Amino acid sequence: MNISILKKAKNIIQERGRDSVEKYTYEMSKITSNSKYIAADSAVRSNTLAISKALSKSEDTRTLEAENAKLITKLAEVKLSLGVPANCYSCVACEDKGTLANGTNCACLTKVYYELSRQISGIAELPQFTFENNSISNIECVQKESLGMLYNSMQNYSEKFPNTSVKNILLTGQVGVGKSCLLSATANDLILRGFSVQYLTAFSLNNLFLKYHTSDAKIRHQYLDSLLTCDLLIIDDLGTEPILKNITLEYLHCVLDERVRKHTMISTNLSINEILIRYRERIASRLTNKYTKIIQLNGTDLRIKK
Ligand SMILES: [Zn+2]
Repeated sequence: MNISILKKAKNIIQERGRDSVEKYTYEMSKITSNSKYIAADSAVRSNTLAISKALSKSEDTRTLEAENAKLITKLAEVKLSLGVPANCYSCVACEDKGTLANGTNCACLTKVYYELSRQISGIAELPQFTFENNSISNIECVQKESLGMLYNSMQNYSEKFPNTSVKNILLTGQVGVGKSCLLSATANDLILRGFSVQYLTAFSLNNLFLKYHTSDAKIRHQYLDSLLTCDLLIIDDLGTEPILKNITLEYLHCVLDERVRKHTMISTNLSINEILIRYRERIASRLTNKYTKIIQLNGTDLRIKK
């Protein structure tokens, strides 16, 4: 897990906890003179006191404790009926600490970490597909079978990541055949596994190249750093960006070159031949080398079907 994202996630959980205590305290202040609440609360207090007395005399407290459990439930019901939550925690499992008693991360922290990672990765821009719940398989289309096989193959890639036999995936096919859904499912799965993912369209990538090119040398590293260091870089819709002279081809080659030992996924509507013509030999060979799996996805436009 990324330390700085984890820290942010913990801060969010703790902030949530403070809000929860504040809300609880405020709601409690409104019911302290309510007769139903007073009666239920007094019953718990008297019973608790009786248990203490019995314990001090070494008497059997089993009946009193059974009664106590019922009274506590009753008190929670009364509070709930008066609009007050049963306790002051947003997450009872970790009491808003983010970690459980055994030191492991609570599910609430993992969920926030995952959402933050999705936002930072840029993948939140895409519909949220997952391998487990890929709604795309329910759509009747000619590529249903090949899409299903591709989901399995990408799930396999994700499970073995980063020790995969191929490093890069080049996904080609017409608009709307399901390429972005596959990218989304793979990215979501890898983020859940704690890997850093950066998703961006070729158009946005081109804009970053332009910013980098025109910025002061002292600050421009910020535009490309995360693209060069992330575990998986996803470039969607390669070929839809304008070719900027001295920028697009030069920086794209630079990024691919820097990431030669890392994983990259690219989707494009272009054929291999069109890639060669548009991006020239140097880049085309990077995109189609022996470390790359080229996947051709054909079929009908799913966006129309939906
Ligand atoms: Zn929790």
